[in-house]
This record gives sequence, structure tokens and C-alpha cells, in this order.
Amino acid sequence: MGNKVLVMSQADIKKMQEHYENYVAEKLPPGSIFSAKMTECVITAYKSGKVLFQGKNAEAEAAKWNGTEANKASTIKKKPVHQYAPPKDISSLSIIGSDEVGTGDYFGPIVVCAAYVDKKQLELLQTLGVKDSKDLKDNQIIEIAKTIEPIITYSLLVLHNEKYNKLQQSGMTQGKMKALLHNQAINHVIEKIKPTDPEGILIDQFVQPDIYFNHIRGKEIKAVKEKMFFSTKAEGIHLSVAAASIIARYAFVQHFEQLSKKAGFTLPKGAGFHVDEAAAKLILKRGKSALNQFTKLHFANTGKAEELVRKKLHKQ
Ligand code: MN
Repeated sequence: MGNKVLVMSQADIKKMQEHYENYVAEKLPPGSIFSAKMTECVITAYKSGKVLFQGKNAEAEAAKWNGTEANKASTIKKKPVHQYAPPKDISSLSIIGSDEVGTGDYFGPIVVCAAYVDKKQLELLQTLGVKDSKDLKDNQIIEIAKTIEPIITYSLLVLHNEKYNKLQQSGMTQGKMKALLHNQAINHVIEKIKPTDPEGILIDQFVQPDIYFNHIRGKEIKAVKEKMFFSTKAEGIHLSVAAASIIARYAFVQHFEQLSKKAGFTLPKGAGFHVDEAAAKLILKRGKSALNQFTKLHFANTGKAEELVRKKLHKQ
């Protein structure tokens, strides 16, 4: 039994549909444009642009179409392209996008957001200034987040430091935590927008798709897997990821401010030397055990902060 997936443009899918018109199946799987049943191969084309070839002849049948424009483009790219690469026209589709914030920051939580943006909303979001949050300042992010939160459907998940540390100490990697959070947020949004069916789901890629699916094994939704896409820099590929990123960043900024208030001084972002110093200050003020509710304990910053504390105490 062979299995082959191609990502194709809507125009190419139309050509395929015409080509296989004598084999078209009456029953359509959810989210599909057409399904063609031949004796040695079943072909299903999805709205997302993915075309699934199954059966003895899958490889040979797929090879007939593998020279089409969309697939040529994906083979020219330097990086190895996995089967979850988004189709060329993804930016114009109705998509659930997801992104996370805070994974590289020693202080503060991890925040994950998934957001659904219907193709009818794309123009409005563009007008409202939604774009890659790396091109936006914090005050712009806050303004845009406040404007878009009431008009799009999203799910926002915050993994606070205490829970993060507990999971990490139990042996869970940060990658697995992220995958589980993305999966959960995406599933929330799918539930919220029902009966609307998204044309695809786009994750700002933080890990290879195969590893992602390993992490969420047992918790994935099969019908959803068919429409999943992974891409780095996905914020620039679809506005749903840009919107998710903006909402996540806004929440992160708010939680960070609350943490600073709790600490009694402004905590720095990132994981550099200024972070070690702030953590040392926190240890001197509140004791080492306080770090559990402010930081990601397993970062190297913890050891460096303790070293700074030792040096300071020696000098006195
Ligand atoms: Mn990201």
C-alpha cells in the first residue's frame, strides 16, 4: 500500500478533477473538493490544496502531477520541504493560525494563541494593521490586540511558571509542552467556530511536523491532521498567525507586568546577563525558592544567578 501527498494550487486541482471525472466518487470526505476511486488508487483533493494518493498505484499516479507549478516551486526551495508545507495560495484561505511567545524568556510564562481568520476578514485585519509582530512595537501590539480581540475567534493559553517547572521536572521537554498547548488551542478554536470548517491550520513551525505529531499522539483529531500546515515565519504567510502572535504577545506583556509588580522591580526579558542579575536580586530579596513562580528554573540563568549571589555575599 502506497501513500503520497502533494500540495497543489486550486487551478491544478481543477485540472485533476476534470482528468479523473469518470472516477469521481459520490461521497466526499469532509473538507475535500473531490475524490476519485480507481482500482489501484484513490485520490482525494482537499480545499487546503493537499492531494492524497492512496493504494498500490499511489506513487505512479502522483508522479503524473508532481511536475505541476505548485510542486515545482516547493522542490526548488533550499530547505527540505516536508509534506505539511502550505500551498501557494494559503494567504487567501480561511485559516486557523497559531503561535507562541515566551519560550526563550527566563522570566514569565509561555503563552500560546490560536486564531481563526476567515477569508472575508482578511482585508479588515490588514486595514487594522495586523502584520508580523516583529515589525511592531509593544504599544502598537497592545493597540492592535485590543481592536482585533472582539472581532476574531481565538483561544489563548497561558502556562505559568510554577506549572511549567513542575512539568519540566517531571521530564517533559519544552517542545512537548508547546506542542500540547498549540494542539489544545487549535482544538478550542475548531469547537468555537463550528459549524464553520477552516480550510487549513497553520502552525508557526517550532519543530519538525513528525515530532509535533509524536508529542500530541492520542490527542490529535484525524480530520484535522489532513489540513495541517507547518512553516517557519508563518506570521508573514497568513494573517491568522500574525493575529495569534499579536494576541499572545499582548497577554505575555500583561503577565510580565504583573510579575514585575510581584517582584517589586522591572524584570528584564530574554535570557542574557541582565536577567542573571535580576534573578540574583530576587534571590537576595525573597530567597531561592521564590524563583519557582517567576522563572523557567531549568534555564542556565538559575545557576548563573546563584553564582552572582555567592560572589555578592562573599564581598560583604
Ligand atoms: Mn513563533
